[in-house]
Amino acid sequence: MLFNRQISAIILFFTILILLIYPNYNNIMILIIKGIAIGALAITFTRYAFPNILNKKLLDKNIETDSQNIPDLSAIQSHYKKLIEQIIDLVSVVNPKYNTAIYMTDLENSGYKKQNSSNFAFKDFVNINNIMISKIIKNNKPIIIKYNKDESWEEIFGEKTWRGSEVIIGFPIKYSDKTVGCLLVFSNHFSSINDNDKSIIEKLVGVITKGMTDLEELDLLLADNYFSARINNLFDQLEVKSDQSELFESIRGICRAFFQYDKLTLILSDNGKNAKIKLVDGIREDADEGQDFNLDNSLHGLAVKKNKLINSNSWIENFPELYRFFPGDKEKFNFMSILSSPIKSKESSIGAITLERLKSRRYSKTDEKLLELLCNTVSTILVWQQEYYKVHQSAMHDGLTGLLNHKTFLDRFDEEISRAKRFNHNLGLVVLDLDKFKVVNDSYGHLHGDYVLKEVSNIIAENVRAIDVVGRYGGEEFAVLLVNTDIEACLPLAQRIVDKIAEKVFLKSGISLKITISAGMSGFPLHAESVRELISKADNAMYVTKTEGGNGISIATN
Ligand code: GH3
Ligand code: MG
Ligand code: MG
Repeated sequence: MLFNRQISAIILFFTILILLIYPNYNNIMILIIKGIAIGALAITFTRYAFPNILNKKLLDKNIETDSQNIPDLSAIQSHYKKLIEQIIDLVSVVNPKYNTAIYMTDLENSGYKKQNSSNFAFKDFVNINNIMISKIIKNNKPIIIKYNKDESWEEIFGEKTWRGSEVIIGFPIKYSDKTVGCLLVFSNHFSSINDNDKSIIEKLVGVITKGMTDLEELDLLLADNYFSARINNLFDQLEVKSDQSELFESIRGICRAFFQYDKLTLILSDNGKNAKIKLVDGIREDADEGQDFNLDNSLHGLAVKKNKLINSNSWIENFPELYRFFPGDKEKFNFMSILSSPIKSKESSIGAITLERLKSRRYSKTDEKLLELLCNTVSTILVWQQEYYKVHQSAMHDGLTGLLNHKTFLDRFDEEISRAKRFNHNLGLVVLDLDKFKVVNDSYGHLHGDYVLKEVSNIIAENVRAIDVVGRYGGEEFAVLLVNTDIEACLPLAQRIVDKIAEKVFLKSGISLKITISAGMSGFPLHAESVRELISKADNAMYVTKTEGGNGISIATN
């Protein structure tokens, strides 16, 4: 641009100079030079006086090329790192005894590069010939490898003294049908590895694969779009762990910055029939957040149903058979233009983001592209959140009974104590242990024992209030935290559980049996103020019940 200006200025200077010093004014040569001088003068004047008019095309092109050359992918990569971190965290939620690392194949350096690990001595780089990782990578399914002194465990963990009971579960990580790395779970003792944990971690590995695929797709999209920085921000602000409302707030911010609309609506549908309005910005009188509507015959359901983008500046003409959300609403609210993009998950749509204007002004191609990109990003984040939620739920619950597992129960206990202290509430803790349960296993087998445990846990869960916290505390031990309840009020609740179990006839596969349970109770703040002491006092009380023959309740002593 600067170059053009200089050339025009130089031509102008010399032609004027020639005009001044040339003697014969009627010469044909002079006429040509006059023409050039006037042209150059006109261009130079226009360039300086109205730079934007002549340069607009050039300016537009520059924006495009700049964004093509420098796609800002750093935030995407940082999000991938965040995802990996969260997966490592989750494995420790599944079982605190596990130590985890993720290695990815590094072909350039002929080895496996550590992406992240829990706080444990995993080496940053492992040679490509490592026997153990090679075994895992070759396998399609997770494998368990017990310590073997010939398999160079030092290459992964460094020098240490081995007990011989150490074990690794190796999960191959797939990407585009190839194994690109592995997730290693190390445990000091093979007895702490169980099938339920294994299947949860396998699902987590699936989340890594999905994450990589999504990120690659987004990379491609972002590479030719100059809005990438803003969308990257959306990713960057969001933790997979964070909840949907934060996601929706970010979407509102992005839409306000990039689009013109009188109403913004984000809807989600989990069955393809009805949808819930999750986010509204602008006009709210016609339909607001939290409202449900039927997707059929509604303009707002159209992008979801057709699974494609809708752009119209006169939607009533284009889709005369439709209303907006509810029958009769198109006459009341005079929206004219609409841009609606589906939020796709795999092949179908799970929702849509819709922009509407009261005036008839068609949304541009750029608007279309940006909204599509935004919807793709939102879909990726939503699916990750759902996957994370599912895995997290199964990591928090005991696989057999569905009750909270030991660790999660203790975490909830801690939270409830803090809350009780804040609000001056009482808490009741009941621990319960089945009487002579070993006999059930010995007489009818372990599977039958499992059936009894499931039934008992159902009885306990059914006989407490929704706010109470129930956990499987050990093999045949359960714990119930009665929230905002003093010890006198706890007694009938606990008695009901004990009685219901004693009354129940456990009938399965032609075997009918009865069983009883022993309970012990302690109260906050009456007996103790810490989780540990409350548990120990309730445990002692439970043993008092046992010594008295079981099938009853004892209250802790001070
Ligand atoms: P007590 O009256 O003193 O409590 O006797 P008990 O037999 O109930 O207690 P003990 O602690 O001796 O035995 C508990 C049994 O619970 C031993 C173990 O095999 C069994 N158990 C623990 N977890 C499970 C499980 O998940 N499934 C089955 N089927 N049995 C389990
Ligand atoms: Mg026991
Ligand atoms: Mg027992």
